[in-house]
Amino acid sequence: MLKLEHITHKYQAKVAVNDISLTVKSGEILAIVGESGSGKTTLLNIISGNIMPENGTLIVDNEEVDIYFNRLIKELPNIKLVPQDYRLKPDYTIYENIDLALTKYTHEYRRERVTELMALCGISEIRNKKPREVSGGEKQRTAIARAIAEEPLVLLLDEPFSNLDSINRTHLRSKIVEIIRQEAIACILVTHDLLDAFLVADKIAIMKNGKVLMIDTPLDIFQESENQYIKEFVSSAVQPIRDFMNGFGKNMNFDI
Ligand code: ADP
Ligand code: MG
Repeated sequence: MLKLEHITHKYQAKVAVNDISLTVKSGEILAIVGESGSGKTTLLNIISGNIMPENGTLIVDNEEVDIYFNRLIKELPNIKLVPQDYRLKPDYTIYENIDLALTKYTHEYRRERVTELMALCGISEIRNKKPREVSGGEKQRTAIARAIAEEPLVLLLDEPFSNLDSINRTHLRSKIVEIIRQEAIACILVTHDLLDAFLVADKIAIMKNGKVLMIDTPLDIFQESENQYIKEFVSSAVQPIRDFMNGFGKNMNFDI
């Protein structure tokens, strides 16, 4: 389980993350949704140990994790971030990219674990290809396989669906759910697209100007009636589908 308490961070005078507290259970996906500039990436960088916050506490499986350290000499072993641009090594194959996360283990264990991870992430067929020869969705799944190689307790995904076509997006959504459930990892997934969050998350946190406005189930966010900003956000996410169904699809028997 991952727990954040009162996490706050400023860039000079600008408060990017403002007193955020939240909890994610193992095997659960929390989607953090917000407009560009709302503080999502900053929050992930704090949790992964890339940015030192001004204030706040991070707890993983009931133990406080020290997040006030020199970032050049240490990384947090139980918390892995998949950055937006994947950062795969271009001259290595998909297999080798995952294997690189396991250099401290025996050859036998590495072979076994990489094979298992490729099967779990649905990338066994592309094991000998280079990153430039595979699709965006396959690159994203390779980056996830590499991130979970050492069985972290927390996985952080920054905009995993951006740059993906709708087929790859759909496939990746169901793969992420499968991986998180099977490996029992606490997952935070950041997206600016509420529709992706509705389709993949157990809980959704709506962020604005560094603050979390609401954390709830997708259905409760969908049905929110008080907060005007959230109502507009929901409406902007689902309206294109409604428009499509009312126009092109109106003679079909769909009821949405
Ligand atoms: P998001 O990922 O939601 O788009 P970010 O966390 O990247 O948001 O940014 C939050 C706010 O902090 C924005 O106003 C952004 O301009 C500002 N910001 C982000 N990184 C820096 C930085 N390195 N220096 C100064 N301001 C930054
Ligand atoms: Mg961002």
